[in-house]
Amino acid sequence: MKVYNTLTRQKEEFKTLEPNKVKMYSCGPTVYNYFHVGNSRPFIIFDVLRRYLEYKGYEVTFVQNFTDIDDKVIKKANEEGTTYDKIAERYIKEYFTDAEGLGIKKANYHPLATENIDGIIDMVKTLIDKGFAYELNGDVYYNTKAFAPYGKLSHQPLEELEAGARIGVNEEKKDAMDFALWKNAKPGEPSWVSPWGNGRPGWHIECSVMAKRYLGDTIDIHSGGVDLCFPHHENEIAQSEAANGKPFANYWMHNAFLNIDNKKMSKSLNNFFTVRDIAEQVGYEPIRFFMLSAHYRSPINYTREAIEQAQNALARINTAITNIKFLGANGKDGDLRDVEKESIAKFEGFNKAFSDAMDDDLNTADAIAAIFDMIREINTICADTEVTKVYAKEAKTALFALCDVLGIGNIAEEEMLDSEIEDLINQRTIARKNKDYKESDRIRDLLKEKGIILYDTPQGVKWSREN
Ligand code: AMP
Ligand code: ZN
Repeated sequence: MKVYNTLTRQKEEFKTLEPNKVKMYSCGPTVYNYFHVGNSRPFIIFDVLRRYLEYKGYEVTFVQNFTDIDDKVIKKANEEGTTYDKIAERYIKEYFTDAEGLGIKKANYHPLATENIDGIIDMVKTLIDKGFAYELNGDVYYNTKAFAPYGKLSHQPLEELEAGARIGVNEEKKDAMDFALWKNAKPGEPSWVSPWGNGRPGWHIECSVMAKRYLGDTIDIHSGGVDLCFPHHENEIAQSEAANGKPFANYWMHNAFLNIDNKKMSKSLNNFFTVRDIAEQVGYEPIRFFMLSAHYRSPINYTREAIEQAQNALARINTAITNIKFLGANGKDGDLRDVEKESIAKFEGFNKAFSDAMDDDLNTADAIAAIFDMIREINTICADTEVTKVYAKEAKTALFALCDVLGIGNIAEEEMLDSEIEDLINQRTIARKNKDYKESDRIRDLLKEKGIILYDTPQGVKWSREN
């Protein structure tokens, strides 16, 4: 597999630190609002990366944090006359609602900045001890000049970065590029006890601390939106590598931005959409599909037409899925026919096209094309009234495996409702009374497909669900 590494600006062969294991960290949301459709891009893309690595047989440990303390969270709390932790708690809950809707799996760890204050203080102390940080009136700053490789991720030397930077009004730091590791408490703001007086962490330090805590000093992949590259990720590198004395992340992956009708999304342009807004109109699935229809490193343009196209494409996938689910239960009995064997032999080619696309720096657009090729093949066979159950089941397994990597399509096996089960049992009883054993067997098989087991007892038919 090849991935584009922002650090080297090249597509590189992906090699893990430990055989078959991947340690992945992705910067998560600041929790002061519902997340917007732009934010959903990295969440979806890196969920797909994780799923694909798992599909390839890697054991993935995935960490995505919540920034639960920062200016925006505090501002929101003040506006509502509540506390920062209440705001964070609310929007973490809302994050999980939207993430679940979008088919984003939970990370192995979702740590909060405020749960890691001890670790943050420890790392800041280490940075001071090693000469990479200094205290100034209760603030602690990172001394960027002390870290020679500073700028290596953004490929800009420190002098160039400095030229574009300014020192804020209330700051006394030595150099414009120095950034806060710890901020002295301001009146009315939440704060924690530290060796430098009461205060709270700067933003960048939490990710260095959480990555170390859950994944170790060196990780395989670190990811986020391209805006995080500088300064956030540059600062994470400076912190982690100076404190740990080891390389921080081997691969840095960044998604490009999402625009709305070719414009930057912003509240002032009135084109700011949360995922919740869009999901209420069109559902969550088309958002995910839309996001995967372009390469993650290309800017993507959100429009009404684009989401409609996603809806149409998904409908085609879902029709095929419904059809093979049905034929798996209702197709012909008996062995595979020759034409079906030939068709199944072609699946390998679609699988390969899918993996080749994904191996090429996660080309989800081409991976979707491979899924459509498979669907076309399956539809051709399923159009024949002679199609067998065995074929439909094989087709289902093959298609579902690929859809599952991208998290698209209605592949979940719906649980039958108790009432539906009882209706079918009644129909079967009637069929048996009429000595229509073909029909009664068909119903028994159909229920078996759905994991419902029937027991014929002297008191009548009883049933239970498998597992
Ligand atoms: P934030 O909560 O602002 O820290 O952002 C969470 C994630 O969303 C980060 O990885 C950002 O880089 C990413 N992000 C923010 N805006 C956009 C956008 N318009 N398009 C794509 N990614 C974005
Ligand atoms: Zn981060």
